[in-house]
Amino acid sequence: MKYDYDIVIVGGGLVGLSLACALGGSGLRIAVVEPKAFPPAAGPSYDDRTLALAYGSRRIFASMGLWGAVEARGACAIKRIHISDRGRFGITRLDAADAGIAALGYVVEMPVLGAVLQEAVHQLDSVSLLCPATVNAIVLDREPATVLIERDGKSRTVSARLIVGADGGRSRVREAAGIGARVVDYDQTAVVTTVTPELAHNHVAYERFTASGPLALLPMRENRCAVVWSAHRSQVDTILGWDDQQFLQHLQERFGDRLGRFIKVGRRQGYPLSLTQVEQHVRARMVLIGNAAHTVHPVAGQGFNLGLRDVAVLSQVLVDATRAGEDIGDMQLLARYMRQRRRDTQAVTTFTDGLIRIFSSSFAPLALVRNLGLVVTDLLPPVKRALIRRTSGMSRRLPRLARGLPL
Ligand SMILES: Cc1cc2nc3c(=O)[nH]c(=O)nc-3n(C[C@H](O)[C@H](O)[C@H](O)COP(=O)(O)OP(=O)(O)OC[C@H]3O[C@@H](n4cnc5c(N)ncnc54)[C@H](O)[C@@H]3O)c2cc1C
Repeated sequence: MKYDYDIVIVGGGLVGLSLACALGGSGLRIAVVEPKAFPPAAGPSYDDRTLALAYGSRRIFASMGLWGAVEARGACAIKRIHISDRGRFGITRLDAADAGIAALGYVVEMPVLGAVLQEAVHQLDSVSLLCPATVNAIVLDREPATVLIERDGKSRTVSARLIVGADGGRSRVREAAGIGARVVDYDQTAVVTTVTPELAHNHVAYERFTASGPLALLPMRENRCAVVWSAHRSQVDTILGWDDQQFLQHLQERFGDRLGRFIKVGRRQGYPLSLTQVEQHVRARMVLIGNAAHTVHPVAGQGFNLGLRDVAVLSQVLVDATRAGEDIGDMQLLARYMRQRRRDTQAVTTFTDGLIRIFSSSFAPLALVRNLGLVVTDLLPPVKRALIRRTSGMSRRLPRLARGLPL
């Protein structure tokens, strides 16, 4: 059978483009279908949204030959993490030195990562960018699997051995495959912005649990801090309605004065938060990755990191299969991928969801137990190391890219 491409990746977000880059030198012919036009690399802005990349994600990008470009454009190392429960006694401090690594993670502005991936993909002869293009239909139950796209006013059907759904939380590919999803609305919205504190952040990330949701401050370049303030949905209009001074005053009340006064704040944006668990990540000729396969609460900065580990494992499975002359759309092969990803996906989902449930409860005995948990973690180096391994993406059997090896 003839195919237009070996792989069609539906969705050219950070996860879809990462997969295209990872497979760039594999000899597989790839198309990326994305409705948005890729913007020219914009100059950095005070307001840019950030991602906390785990140490394991740095390794994956380094193996793909991209970390140097990310670092050159600006990545701020997280050397310590300070976790506290507002109004209570529990504190845990994690230090990169405890785990013998250079940094617990890195804060990178999303446009920086996007620009690095876009530039890399543009240089790959084996990758065709079909964008801006809308997807009008996806057919998975016939051979070959096809995607009907519309581009420049013209319709076109593209066929592939494998369709990858990297099209985010409301995945059209998932819907076309008839795969159900369990969605839990957290009734919280993350208000995201950037602030500049009076004192140096010294590469410390803060996670502060409050009754209405967690508040994170992540160190950025130029002594800015990314704020992710998860608040109950009913409070969000009020928070977004505050002027700069009011916002800074309320933030200061919640965060305290560890970083002195906050002296500048950027634009505020709200992101409604939910958990999505899908029934299946694979079907014959189809696989879901990134947010299309799982959406988690941003409390521990895990969502993209989990998606990047999907990329690291999937690219390895596909390259090995190609070398062995196997069909990359074969269900048994894809089930092999799924088995390798199940535990990590489940663990991150349970971990982030558990944190939200445990720390949002005002039930006194539970509050006492969680604060004792923070204190015990702070006092026991092996527990700290286990927590660091879990959140840094280094705790499981690692694919080659995450071990610093080429595909
Ligand atoms: C407030 C907040 C803070 C976060 N902080 C962190 C963090 O610190 N660290 C971390 O690891 N994660 C974090 N995350 C999670 C992270 O942002 C996501 O997990 C990640 O961006 C998902 O990337 P993706 O490419 O899978 O999906 P998306 O970013 O949703 O990209 C999907 C792409 O598919 C395209 N698309 C959509 N529909 C179609 C269609 N029908 N056809 C073709 N293409 C389509 C879209 O245009 C888009 O380009 C955070 C999330 C939130 C909400």
